[in-house]
Amino acid sequence: MKSNYKNINFDNTYVKLPDRFYSKTAPVPVKTPSVVIINKNLSKEIDIDYNFLCSDLGVNILAGNNIPCGSDPISLVYAGHQFGNWVPLLGDGRAILLGEIKDKNGLRKDIQLKGSGITPFSRSGDGRAWLGPVIREYIVSEAMAALNINTTRSLSAILTGEEVIRERNYPGAILTRIASSHVRVGTFQYFSFKKDYKALKLLADYIIDRCYPDIKNNQNPYLSLIESVMRGQASLVAKWMGVGFIHGVMNTDNFSISCETIDYGPCAFMDKYESAKVFSSIDVMGRYSYKNQPNIAMWNLGCLVSSLLPLISTDQNLALKKGRTLLESFPDIYYEEWLNVFRKKLGLVNFSDNDHLLINSFLGNMEKYNTDFTMAFRSLKNFGVESNYADINFKENYNIDFFKSEEMKNWLMKWRKAIGERESSIKKSNIILRKNNPAFIARNHNIQNIIDDLLENNSSSLVDFLHVLKNPYEENDRLKTYKKPPLINETINETFCGT
Ligand code: AMP
Ligand code: MG
Repeated sequence: MKSNYKNINFDNTYVKLPDRFYSKTAPVPVKTPSVVIINKNLSKEIDIDYNFLCSDLGVNILAGNNIPCGSDPISLVYAGHQFGNWVPLLGDGRAILLGEIKDKNGLRKDIQLKGSGITPFSRSGDGRAWLGPVIREYIVSEAMAALNINTTRSLSAILTGEEVIRERNYPGAILTRIASSHVRVGTFQYFSFKKDYKALKLLADYIIDRCYPDIKNNQNPYLSLIESVMRGQASLVAKWMGVGFIHGVMNTDNFSISCETIDYGPCAFMDKYESAKVFSSIDVMGRYSYKNQPNIAMWNLGCLVSSLLPLISTDQNLALKKGRTLLESFPDIYYEEWLNVFRKKLGLVNFSDNDHLLINSFLGNMEKYNTDFTMAFRSLKNFGVESNYADINFKENYNIDFFKSEEMKNWLMKWRKAIGERESSIKKSNIILRKNNPAFIARNHNIQNIIDDLLENNSSSLVDFLHVLKNPYEENDRLKTYKKPPLINETINETFCGT
């Protein structure tokens, strides 16, 4: 059903590209939609009336039962490397782009329904999602946004009133996702593989206009596009590393050109620090492990480079040379970003050549003593002048062995010396520590408990959890339980794809 009231100011551009970029597909209506959550703050940011979204018509739009006025629904085509294997045709198999709007800062955003039914790209899938992965994406994407990490956002989670069949039957749900764009490395790969260079150029020009207008008049805008994505992804992945985030499925079709964290599937935040940590049940080789994320980012950028070669120069040898030289600068760019992130986590703003030693020995000690990543960094604020174990002496005694170890006594001395010599005051350093080391992250066991609560029709824990995640750097006495690392029997070490 199409709605006649213009409550959302659509201003669609992707649908104006040639029709081989997408398929016109309407969402498949669902039985009895009901709200799990609608994001009031985000609705304000994107200039859509929250009360309208909560109305009967609003909920039916978010469920895909009603096509809002101005929407021209499409599913996007793309290809991709999945775990390194080439798949020439993927596309939105369970998602539909309703259209684009301008947010209150004038920035263009996609509004996409995820879990909205079968599309021409569904292959053997049912086009649906169940409540668990929808809530996981909602929680983690909103947590990332509050941590100041570029990400797609979640506007709503709606129950469909229908069941989806997985290992067992689960309640079906639809997520409404807001993104700066849904163009991925895989979108470029799709056209490049088909040797459709006309479309490739249209796509590159489209994304430059939309996301990187400043490079439009550069000498070689396509090389500049690669460089922009390279810098954006270097910064993004460094920020992931700084909060112990593991994306879990960094396939080229889940690697955004606008450099937002996208397609939350088996992602998770680490509890105990383990450099080779993997959560995803299907990542048996550790391709997407914590420490391998920067390498994979470079691998994916390599795919972007090779897709864009036909646009870089008519001389393919020259194009390859230029592309390769650019790609080879990624490790240095990433390393600077990583240093910046972790320096601040140690309360340092002024640089020294040996910072990497200080950072790496902290990480190494954490790994040796099975230490909780988030709490170890957060606890540093207690150690500026002298050792103060007050904050970390929970009943479970986590991190105590770490901070009381000989290695850390030694480390703390060096660290205090660095602060004394280089920073203006311990107090200022402490402020940096608090601003860069969250107390609250979206821990796996909490997410699981919240999904279990929702399955029992209890949404109060979801509301509480989202509240602390929205203010991750502020202590919260009432809700401090969400700060605690899991006990051994609460720990969840495996996550599953969101299908
Ligand atoms: P992902 O890596 O989870 O983003 O998904 C990889 C591909 O599988 C994408 O093309 C998705 O659209 C598609 N896909 C995942 N789950 C489903 C589903 N339940 N039904 C149809 N397609 C799906
Ligand atoms: Mg995907």
